[in-house]
Amino acid sequence: MTPRAIDYLRIAVTDRCNLRCVYCMPCEGVAFRDHEEILTYEEIAFLVSVAADMGFSKIRLTGGEPLVRRGLPNLVSMIKAVPGIRDVALTTNGILLPQFAEDLRAAGLDRVNISVDTLDSDRYRRLTRGGDLRRALAGVEAAFTHHLEPVKINAVLNRETMAELPSFAALTRDRPLHARFIEWMPVGGCGPTSEAQAPVRDEVLAALSLLGDLQPAESPGGWGPARYFRLLGHQGTIGFISAVSDHFCGTCNRLRLTADGRLMSCLFSNDEIGIRAALAARDHEATAALVRESLSRKTFDRRCVEQPSRRGMSQIGG
Ligand code: SAM
Ligand code: SF4
Repeated sequence: MTPRAIDYLRIAVTDRCNLRCVYCMPCEGVAFRDHEEILTYEEIAFLVSVAADMGFSKIRLTGGEPLVRRGLPNLVSMIKAVPGIRDVALTTNGILLPQFAEDLRAAGLDRVNISVDTLDSDRYRRLTRGGDLRRALAGVEAAFTHHLEPVKINAVLNRETMAELPSFAALTRDRPLHARFIEWMPVGGCGPTSEAQAPVRDEVLAALSLLGDLQPAESPGGWGPARYFRLLGHQGTIGFISAVSDHFCGTCNRLRLTADGRLMSCLFSNDEIGIRAALAARDHEATAALVRESLSRKTFDRRCVEQPSRRGMSQIGG
């Protein structure tokens, strides 16, 4: 398989979060970086400008929860002002989206993915260790109101939430909402403790096909490895991101930046390159050299998946 051009940079703007999802963060003992260790918005925007000169055109802001970092709309407008950047997206748990959606849109944010792993309030509280489902769903509404579209919901399924597949599918019926199921990934020690906890793609697909005529569909817009389907007559789609079942490493198009300024060539990899000093010095050449070095370390195979990263997902950005 021929590797695609690498044109997609995922940026974790913080490792902090207002939730503690069971598959992402341990319930205690999470060591957050101090403020001084986190890249400034100016440093991030500088990296984006160097990356854009090298052909990167798509940016996703993630975390931790990106909206807990103050002034995120400012970063969006700084990135949108970089020539060559075509699309800026946000991955969020949606809790603070009602508060920020308007400013984010005004700053130029194109779209959002919102993580909602269950549509049951008690289960949501349990899975997020204290979150309020109503607030996340209000975030979904805010995304529609402010045209941060296509609006996608991300759900990491487990055994219990498999029973909710009909409810997720129903969300895609009357409006262009796209529900994406993400396989639970064994990252940062928060992976499933047994195979039995993590439904895989084929099982989810089989269960969904019992709900109606499920046909392959075009991607609603996006640059990731998701595969899409549509139930006959539904406006929205159902997507799958299955790093474990699928073998999409060969077509990987992304590089990652951690909040503390390290480039990662793969979500699963322990291979990191510190780029902070070059960014702080606004050294274009050194920054470009480090980006090239990280790109050269991409293996485009499953070696990394088989040796998951020590970092938790909230530190890498999912
Ligand atoms: N806080 C934001 C959110 O939850 O959308 C952004 C950061 S979160 C780390 C990004 C994505 O990673 C979310 O869609 C989340 O569901 C996913 N994620 C976190 N831990 C995961 C795991 N162990 N396996 C699969 N996906 C995971
Ligand atoms: Fe926070 Fe997102 Fe991780 Fe949940 S998945 S703990 S919302 S960073």
